[in-house]
Amino acid sequence: MIYADYNGSAPLSQEVRDYLLKRFEKGPFANPNAIHYLGAKTLMGMENARAACAKVLGADFDQIIFNSGATEGISTVFHTILSNEIHKKIIIISGIEHSAVVNTAHYYGSRGFIVKTLPVTTEGIVDLEVFHQWLKEDANNIAMVAIMAANNETGVIQPYQKINSECIENNIPYLCDTTQYIGKTPFNFKESNIDYAVCSGHKLGAMTGTGILLAKDAEKILALIIGGGQEKGHRGGTQNYLGNETLAVALSSLEKSFTNIPALTKKRMEFEQNMKTSFPEIVIIGEHSPRLATTTYIAYPGIHGQAVQMELESLDIFVTTSSACSDNMPVTSKVLKAMGACDSVGRGVVRISLCLNSPLDYYDLLFDALTKIYTKLLKIKSY
Ligand code: PLP
Repeated sequence: MIYADYNGSAPLSQEVRDYLLKRFEKGPFANPNAIHYLGAKTLMGMENARAACAKVLGADFDQIIFNSGATEGISTVFHTILSNEIHKKIIIISGIEHSAVVNTAHYYGSRGFIVKTLPVTTEGIVDLEVFHQWLKEDANNIAMVAIMAANNETGVIQPYQKINSECIENNIPYLCDTTQYIGKTPFNFKESNIDYAVCSGHKLGAMTGTGILLAKDAEKILALIIGGGQEKGHRGGTQNYLGNETLAVALSSLEKSFTNIPALTKKRMEFEQNMKTSFPEIVIIGEHSPRLATTTYIAYPGIHGQAVQMELESLDIFVTTSSACSDNMPVTSKVLKAMGACDSVGRGVVRISLCLNSPLDYYDLLFDALTKIYTKLLKIKSY
């Protein structure tokens, strides 16, 4: 079996599985906020996990807020910045943001804010010139900027440091959606100097339903879930201490895999070139942009991506056609539309997303499988 949908969700990593098996045997299982011995021991385990996460992510201990995942982190940041904002009206997002950002921005759009969507180039990078222009025209009226670090469909890495510098210069809060970036490439929160970043455990090989909101100044966080004041009042509800421990295990083990990035990138590029040599009509989305080592987004115009996905599945290879949310709709995704892709490319895409520990020969196996499948489906190519 080849699992190539890591951008959708990563299976539990081997380290996390091993950790949990021992952890289940050993305990403790108690409320980390209880003041008895078992509670204190559970709390200590969770706080050690927080320290480990902070170390890997280059953050201070107090900048780590455990939650249920990126969607919650994103909503919390919008809530924090916009709930008491009465003067500034503009929210800037980009045309390639995940729906967790887009829909939250539009929710606030329906409550009096103005959502401005930054265009992207055909290579899938946000247009910095337009961004710069918008800041020049209206900086005093911009309440926040939410632009991602790496795109979930294309893997294209965005110039988030430049965006952040401009936000700092203009005193505008910046939320960087780092969901696909963290764990796939080195990231140091303090060095990045970003106000807010997010991640989801299930993208990292940790337990699903876990996540971290990174906040430069956590004191500013306005709890979205109020409850009993857990997480220093930043996120109510008894903490998912087991899940949070798995975040520390997963992040620490991923950190060791960053050395695999050059070899994976080289192999991915070879794979893409070989595919293009065999099938010159093939389009590699974002080919000339900096991309995550683990993502290839490939289209054969005229051959339906879902047909390719099903053929791959019959060979025990699991990919997607775009993001999970739009997967059931054979339409060009909003990300590809924003990049100006035509429908024959949009309907033809297949996303291959591996992890930093995937065996390099997966690309050879994928090449063989796709060669057979495209050769077969070319006979019924329709448009
Ligand atoms: N942001 C990006 C870029 C994502 O890829 C995802 C998930 O696919 C999310 C946010 C939302 O993450 P979750 O569904 O884990 O909350």
